[in-house]
Amino acid sequence: MNIPGMHVALQSRLEQNARLGDRTQYIGASEIGSCLRRVVCSKLYPEPFDQASMGRMLAGKALENEVVQLVRIALNGQIRNTGRVQLDLQHPTLPFRAHPDGRIIGEDGDGVLEVKTASSATYKRFQSEGLPANYISQVQGQMGLSKLSWALVVVVSRENLAEMAQFTIRFDPEHFAQLENRATRAAAFLRDVNLLDQLEGETENGFCQTCPYSDQCNAFQSKREAGKRGEIPEVTRLQMECALEELSELEAISGPAQERIAELRDQVKTALLNSGASKVLLGNGTVQMVESSRTSFDSKSFQREAPDLYNRFQKTSTFSTLRITGATKCLSTV
Ligand code: SF4
Repeated sequence: MNIPGMHVALQSRLEQNARLGDRTQYIGASEIGSCLRRVVCSKLYPEPFDQASMGRMLAGKALENEVVQLVRIALNGQIRNTGRVQLDLQHPTLPFRAHPDGRIIGEDGDGVLEVKTASSATYKRFQSEGLPANYISQVQGQMGLSKLSWALVVVVSRENLAEMAQFTIRFDPEHFAQLENRATRAAAFLRDVNLLDQLEGETENGFCQTCPYSDQCNAFQSKREAGKRGEIPEVTRLQMECALEELSELEAISGPAQERIAELRDQVKTALLNSGASKVLLGNGTVQMVESSRTSFDSKSFQREAPDLYNRFQKTSTFSTLRITGATKCLSTV
């Protein structure tokens, strides 16, 4: 069933936190480390969210609230300023604000609490490689604006709330001063839209593939042109070379294992077929032959018999395929 008005409902839930101010008028701590051009453009020329994006944002928010409650129970009443009484931290002179998920009462001074949810794969990456730079900037902004000296960042896997990684970050006055400089620049561009052409995109800080302002972004367009010529940043080249090297090593290990797996499966199947049994219970498992059938559509014959009809219903869709050759054996991922 399609519930009418769901788009409006999602929108109204997203706009409920009006107490925290009009986000088009200030730079939030969660944005300050991202590409400033995209952030400023999103304030000057806001793009309406589609239903799927609003749904994802609300789901993430609901999950974060649940995690805050879990942390509240775990810390046994040491959390303040959550939910409706969330802190609204404002810079004294700049349009720079922060809204941490809570304040933790500590024995040697309070700290801010920030909760993040991530897919299981991203969660594992953060756990092994540490927090990304924009999260660090966010909590440095929160600490600078609240004058608190430490922050606890809790990252939780969306697939399993028991998968929880914690990071304690100390306040770094130099980092905060850099963020204030960025807020000052952003404020100037927000004040005078005619200056926007002078604001270079920061491709290293942005998710350019999903950026609605990429068409007019010189930095992104030049990077794309360079990419078409096969020129990529050195750091990206090194990252890919490391990944290829690891892939190559893993394939060298798993190749013989895969062959042995196929050999053993074949051995069990032959033994079962030769025995005449369809199912056998063993000490460490069960083996059985399962009969199944599949009906498929013979599109080649259909094209031969009814070419006009076949052409009418043909559909072309595009997708990207990653093909790696050379360092490791040819591997394609769709
Ligand atoms: S395309 Fe990339 S660099 Fe350009 S504004 Fe968007 S996020 Fe920033």
